[in-house]
Amino acid sequence: MKRAILVFTFTFAACGSAFAGDDVVSWARVYADDGEAYASLVYREGLDVASVSPGEYVDVIAPQSTLDELAGTGYSYEYLQFDCLSPELRGGRGYSGYHNYDELESDLSNLADNNEDICWLMNLGDGHADMGNIYALKIHDYEPVPEEVVLNDPNKPDILIVGCHHAREPMTVEVTLSFAEFLCQNYPSNSTVKNIVENMETFIIPCLNPDGWIYDDVEGSRHYWRKNAYDYDDDGNYFEDQGWGYGEGVDLNRNYTYQWGYDDYGSSPVWSDPTYRGPSAGSEPETQVIIGLAERVDFVSALSFHSYGEWILRPWGYIDQYSDDNAKFVEMSAVINNVIYDHLGRNYTACGGWEMYNTNGDFVDYMYGEHDILAVTIELNSSGQGGFYPDDSWIGPTCDMTDEVCLTWADWVWDEFGSVYVASGNGAGDEPGAAVVFALEQSRPNPARDVAVFGFSVPETIDGELAVYDITGRKVETVAEGPFDEGYNEYTADLSNLPSGVYVYRLVAGSDSAAKKIVVNR
Ligand SMILES: [Zn+2]
Repeated sequence: MKRAILVFTFTFAACGSAFAGDDVVSWARVYADDGEAYASLVYREGLDVASVSPGEYVDVIAPQSTLDELAGTGYSYEYLQFDCLSPELRGGRGYSGYHNYDELESDLSNLADNNEDICWLMNLGDGHADMGNIYALKIHDYEPVPEEVVLNDPNKPDILIVGCHHAREPMTVEVTLSFAEFLCQNYPSNSTVKNIVENMETFIIPCLNPDGWIYDDVEGSRHYWRKNAYDYDDDGNYFEDQGWGYGEGVDLNRNYTYQWGYDDYGSSPVWSDPTYRGPSAGSEPETQVIIGLAERVDFVSALSFHSYGEWILRPWGYIDQYSDDNAKFVEMSAVINNVIYDHLGRNYTACGGWEMYNTNGDFVDYMYGEHDILAVTIELNSSGQGGFYPDDSWIGPTCDMTDEVCLTWADWVWDEFGSVYVASGNGAGDEPGAAVVFALEQSRPNPARDVAVFGFSVPETIDGELAVYDITGRKVETVAEGPFDEGYNEYTADLSNLPSGVYVYRLVAGSDSAAKKIVVNR
């Protein structure tokens, strides 16, 4: 890795929207009285949006002149952190638990060295400023051909977890690294981990935007930097102009090729704006890393971690519509939210990206739109937990939660796609077109709160019944009655009338029967 010598200059005039040097910048919450006021605020040209509550408020990083202007047009606001760029606040008090680049690099290589049978470290490239490498870990139980470490085994479903598209979201580096460590530490003792490692392939990219993340430096300078290190005026000075969301740089989560710049709404063509989509679709080295991976690897599902705001966002971002696979996305989001509820006592808001605000050229739209990959964005943490920069005390609880989120999601992906790999002759030595066998899957999500999905296979069209019983053996819910179709069957049941507890569901089909446990927890 070559470390560029960086010269940080602040040439206010170059940005076109000159802020005076004493125009103090704050993290603030701007209130909108209704949906209309919200829309004109969140799509206001150049506004650096930190998080939102649709119809209610928009959190911004903004100079006082912008806040004054908003107040002049009828918006009220309050400071979440007045003068958030002041040197005193950047000092790093309460912020020593985050990884810096050197610590990340050494933890990644130690992880690969200490788990050499299941964990491989790849360097996928770097950004414009070449301040650090974009690393990926690949976790599975066979040894790849070294020069083809990125290639995948077509017999196994692949999943992808990405952190830090946006520089000022350091928690996303922590949670992605944490899950890689979780898989290595719990293999092979945890049976779910064992299955994920042995029957799937997991790609983890803790920091897609090392340039921006290193510059932002949660423990030190803390610039509220959002974008990458794209050097607009090509003068060799990176990160020029105001800082925070403004100035040079491309918003990596607006640079993907699918519907890039769609309708000129949901990203900006202006180089200094916080949502600048770049000079062309897929122009940035960081987005090219993801595009290159997605073109070579058969991912079936992906998580992209961001912060903050407590959201689970599914397609689409670029239009006001759900996708054709919305039911599947809803189910996946519910699986994730089930874990979150256990940890926080509340759900994240799960919805279409467009319901928060429109974006185009983002990761989720690209992965799903271009490659049919079930991808969601998870916006971690709340303003009360510190927004972009939760203090050290939140790192442990957040990672504990996301470790379980990732584990449960990966297990759901296996339930969802694993049988396809087996049934299509790709796994376990089966021949293509092998006879379907009688099999009952674990219901999902498990534990279930309201709705659960039951899947099973039967070798021929046959009469039967699938029902839920309480622990005394009393039937409490008939999920489905045959005849069932030959092959895979799936039914969804509303269990909201059942008290919390352990239940058994039993499938009877002809002379075959099987039973499994399901936990209802609300
Ligand atoms: Zn983000």
